[in-house]
Amino acid sequence: MKRLLRYLKPYTKECVLGPLFKLLEATFELFVPLVIASLIDRGIADADGGTIWKMGALLVGLALVGLVSAITAQYFAAKAATGFAASLKHAVFSHLGSLSFSARDALGTSTMVTRLTSDADQVQNGVNLTLRLFLRSPFIVFGAMVMAFVVDGRAAWIFVAAIPLLSLVVFGIMLRTMPLYKKAQAGLDGVTGTLRENLNGVRVIRAFRQEADETARFDAENDALTKLNEFVGRISAAMNPLTYVILNAALIVLLHTGAVRVNVGSLTQGEVVALVNYLMQILVELIKLANLIITMTRAFACADRIAQVLEIKPGMESGSARPTENAEPLVSLENVSMRYDGAGGDALSGITLSASRGETVGVIGPTGCGKSTLVQLIPRFYDATAGTVRIDGVDVKDYDLAALRRRIGIVPQKAQLFKGTIRDNLLWGDPDATDDRLWAALETAQAAEFVRTREGGLDAPVEQNGRNFSGGQRQRLTIARALVRKPDILILDDSASALDLATDAALRRALRETDGAPVVFIVSQRAASLLHADRILVLEDGRAAGLGTHEELLASCPLYREIYDSQFPKEATAV
Ligand code: ADP
Ligand code: MG
Repeated sequence: MKRLLRYLKPYTKECVLGPLFKLLEATFELFVPLVIASLIDRGIADADGGTIWKMGALLVGLALVGLVSAITAQYFAAKAATGFAASLKHAVFSHLGSLSFSARDALGTSTMVTRLTSDADQVQNGVNLTLRLFLRSPFIVFGAMVMAFVVDGRAAWIFVAAIPLLSLVVFGIMLRTMPLYKKAQAGLDGVTGTLRENLNGVRVIRAFRQEADETARFDAENDALTKLNEFVGRISAAMNPLTYVILNAALIVLLHTGAVRVNVGSLTQGEVVALVNYLMQILVELIKLANLIITMTRAFACADRIAQVLEIKPGMESGSARPTENAEPLVSLENVSMRYDGAGGDALSGITLSASRGETVGVIGPTGCGKSTLVQLIPRFYDATAGTVRIDGVDVKDYDLAALRRRIGIVPQKAQLFKGTIRDNLLWGDPDATDDRLWAALETAQAAEFVRTREGGLDAPVEQNGRNFSGGQRQRLTIARALVRKPDILILDDSASALDLATDAALRRALRETDGAPVVFIVSQRAASLLHADRILVLEDGRAAGLGTHEELLASCPLYREIYDSQFPKEATAV
């Protein structure tokens, strides 16, 4: 929580003025029972119409001034709370952007969403209520007690006995529920996660008739969360009855002793009414205080969860080295191993590979053998656990991250487009690219034709996740996006998987003819896509099962031969 307070700092003025106006309001409120007492004792008892009107007008005046103070306080509190939440969300969002892929993997998407939404809202609520009530409620409670002493010293002792009892109940319940709120937010993470997965995968779920199972899974998590919330709710709900019992007991004692003493004449009727009024004020304020404490407890738990995110180190320090052009080889991996955080075994082990300008390297192997992992080491999405990845002879860990990634055009396995226009998406490759360059990239990526026929051409809209394009179209647009950059290193991670064989072949032909002579990494499951690569790496369970040209591998690598034969059964008999 302390860490988060600095986002409240710009609102210091509001944080002082808000509670101050609340105290002003409370002060006026504390005078009201005294005015009522004199209205009864002097105005009504003596049948003095003038006093009744005067006191009545005073009451209205106090109410008006109180109202103005309250609205002013509310304004400042709301301004501070919303401003604080906005800058907090901003900070968390940009921090998430700086996190390495491993750190994001460890955190998970749904919890990031809850922390930015529900948690941040709870904290905002907490700040708002704290500014309004944290000073006011105790002030009224003790103020009312003091006023009770002013009215009548003996009766005030009832207040002295009731307040600690009430505090005991309120704080006891607070201590009990505090840890449970944290657990409830974690439960919310789970429910959000299931919901996300379900919404994203709705087609698959329907196709495999998993609706019932999915509903059951959601129900189970939702029920668990509901039970937990009900449990916390029940504990909190005990607060009101308990406090009311204590207060009403105090009220009975007060009315009884008061009545006896009014009879004797040592207390006036107005004074008894004033005392009852103060007792009621204390009750209302204690209930507000209790609610405030619940909100604060929850806000603290949520603030903790947000602070946890902010405390995660970006996990990857950028080096400062800049590219030194024309060193040979351009990309080299030396005995590289890689293990994901928390994984049981290495995803890659002992891979050595190099490629010079203009060369094409193919990577092939069964799914899960580490192909994507391998190519993600080059733009340093993950760090190798052992060995070194060098670009132009410089260890990628020493590279300035932005400069490194600017040299690389990567087409990820999952084609991802963003809401906007085709042009917006392509310009991610290079914001300064001219239309001619965009069209050239689309041409090479075999995407020009369908872009040309779309209404709007380059300005045709792209919906969220590019869902208004087919899988193959998305893939070609992501390839074009990488090409616009004119990268030194082009990485195609299974990027032709949704293309038909003819388009795939045309794409590879066009890539060979592009100028700039980038190193091209082509990851594929299809041997046909890699036939002409200068070198092909065959991966099996993260290890190199072979490295060489198509002909060399056919002769020397049984796994490659097996993959090839399974895809070209006729030629298999001929070779
Ligand atoms: P391929 O691209 O060859 O299909 P990957 O490189 O994606 O294979 O995965 C290699 C192995 O690493 C797999 O066993 C996979 O389960 C694991 N893996 C991939 N990504 C992650 C990740 N983010 N966290 C943990 N393990 C992962
Ligand atoms: Mg892959």
